[in-house]
Amino acid sequence: MNKTAVYPGTFDPITNGHIDIIKRAARLYDTLYVGLAVSQEKKPLFTVKERLGFIKQAAEGMPNVRVEFFKGLAVDYVRSKKSMVVVRGLRMISDFEYEFQMALTNRKLADDIETIFMMPHEKYAYLSSKLIKEIVYLGADASSFVPDFVEAALRRKLKKHD
Ligand code: ADP
Repeated sequence: MNKTAVYPGTFDPITNGHIDIIKRAARLYDTLYVGLAVSQEKKPLFTVKERLGFIKQAAEGMPNVRVEFFKGLAVDYVRSKKSMVVVRGLRMISDFEYEFQMALTNRKLADDIETIFMMPHEKYAYLSSKLIKEIVYLGADASSFVPDFVEAALRRKLKKHD
């Protein structure tokens, strides 16, 4: 059986926590699609092109990881990849309610697709894209939370708001 999984998300921007999940999932599946969900609702800081570029750079050297964007429902994207697996990351209890709701909604939409939750290394368990943007905006160094190229881009982007 060819095992393919999809890790969908906003990745605004990708953090070391997301990368940890990508590495773990890529060990379990033959092919892992990292699917960037295109949604204006969340008012992302980075464009789709920028976010895709960061993910691709972060996934360099991971031969079974493919990076794409998708529009519409995650379950439709998963089906289009002939996959039955959605990978999501669980950090703390605070993620649980939202992820639970999302997984059960997706199950209602597509009963044949399972959501698999993975926990990152504990050193990444508190990282979120949102907090990283806030601390860089306030002048802190985020180099231990995101790859260097993301940190540089955050600095460039958030400087405009000084
Ligand atoms: P969303 O898809 O909800 O907009 P993100 O793009 O931030 O959120 O995250 C995609 C997935 O990765 C979610 O399941 C989220 O819980 C998970 N995730 C985010 N940050 C981390 C982290 N530091 N460690 C592990 N998983 C994470």
